[in-house]
Amino acid sequence: MARYILGIDEGTTSARAFVIDDDTNVVGFAQAEITQQYPRPGWIEHNPKEILSTQLESIRAALRDANLQPSDLSAVGLTNQRETGIVWDKETGEPIYNAIVWASRHSVEVVERWVADGLGDLIQQRTGLIPDAYYTASKIRWILDQVPGAQARAEAGELLAGTVDTWLIWNLTGRKEFVTETSNASRTMMMNLETLDWDDELLGHYGIPRHMLARIASSGEVFGDISATFGAPVPIGSNLGDQQAGLFGQAAYREGLSKMTYGTAGVLNINSGSKPRPIEGLTPSVGWTIGGETTYEIEGVLFAMGKTMQWLRDDLQLIHSAPDSEWYAGQVQSTEGVYLVPAFTGLAAPNWDPHARAAIIGMSNATTRLHVIRAAVESMVFQTRDVVEAAAKGELGVSISELRVDGGAVRNNLLCQMQANILGIPVVRPKNAEATIFGAMLLAGLSTGIYADLEELESKWEVDQVFEPTMSRDQADSLYEGWQRAVELTKGWNRPRS
Ligand code: ADP
Repeated sequence: MARYILGIDEGTTSARAFVIDDDTNVVGFAQAEITQQYPRPGWIEHNPKEILSTQLESIRAALRDANLQPSDLSAVGLTNQRETGIVWDKETGEPIYNAIVWASRHSVEVVERWVADGLGDLIQQRTGLIPDAYYTASKIRWILDQVPGAQARAEAGELLAGTVDTWLIWNLTGRKEFVTETSNASRTMMMNLETLDWDDELLGHYGIPRHMLARIASSGEVFGDISATFGAPVPIGSNLGDQQAGLFGQAAYREGLSKMTYGTAGVLNINSGSKPRPIEGLTPSVGWTIGGETTYEIEGVLFAMGKTMQWLRDDLQLIHSAPDSEWYAGQVQSTEGVYLVPAFTGLAAPNWDPHARAAIIGMSNATTRLHVIRAAVESMVFQTRDVVEAAAKGELGVSISELRVDGGAVRNNLLCQMQANILGIPVVRPKNAEATIFGAMLLAGLSTGIYADLEELESKWEVDQVFEPTMSRDQADSLYEGWQRAVELTKGWNRPRS
């Protein structure tokens, strides 16, 4: 008899649910939008109760789509938007404020204060993260500062705080399990990357009482069951932050294996083995903990990947749809020296310059929109080389011998081929582009005994196409050198002048 796994993917824009059979065929799917609240420019909030109700609704709809009952399920796997912070009342379960979403800038001043107090080095040393409002700690601090009486209630043990995984599991298990795991916790700026526990010294500086925070478990273990919400004792068998789930879903179980996600933004994750590796310009985090062993990863975020295609489509109106970009870009052999650096909101990894601004450079009278469109596609490729090269630098560097790719833009063959050419290594596109949710579901299957071991999981990962490099290294390096010069020109562009 087939065994079924429910996958919960709580994302920033929507809550999705998948049901797969043990051969990984999708038998049910549903998705529901989450309301984005923008109380001020740069602030993004979600209603935590809506996160929960939307997720429950999408689970029910996916089960209907699969024509299954909760009792037909063998395991549940969970992945979610990382870093987003929620504080709620332990007794009533009511949030005391909205969820502050990862990208939100609410707590910039909190972080500035911590850095001014000299905490910057300590934070980086203990957590691997460069202090930023992006991470959960400052969001919790902000909520405790803003809601009257919250700090005293937190100290009295009346409030709980956590990331979205903790909020969902607490509710799904009827408030029995108050738990997170290492990959999510490594993005909170509160977990010590070596001990894999909350760092008491940092918590002291932050003024966040430890008893507000959940137990940090392994990523692949049983996190209670869903009988309280779905009437059937189906075990929750995994919990992973979305990017780490993507790395796991790409079967990148060994050191040096990697994945690049070309979504609206881009994220490179490289399995860096059993030790955290702080590498300049990139962040070391936990990949996952399974069976008592922790695998670390190196992460590089790029703000504008597919986003640039949306800009060409919606703002410049050079293309009708993002997939059109492939046809247009293929009409010319090269950009003839044109580069598009999409630093619309500054440069992310590995350059980190908030004052950089986008540029199209190298145009002549012979430049047409085809060259500009091609330059936009190539910007995804060059940015990826930036982070791949940064990861390989220095004593702790990790080199990769192939790049596994996923995300909405990987249907673009020209992008994948050009990526292989510029990196000089094969680019591997799997059949299943939904690496994130598959990672979570496969891990749930592993920890509940549906699958025997990582070898069996690896056999579920199938290649769609391998793009081998066909360009000479000289040509690739010379094109890349032009890109690096273009990036330099965008740096500091928007810096206030005195
Ligand atoms: P996210 O989950 O980050 O919102 P997706 O993984 O669904 O994004 O990818 C969507 C992004 O991919 C969009 O920004 C879109 O412009 C881009 N995209 C989709 N198809 C293509 C394509 N064929 N070529 C280039 N970009 C594409």
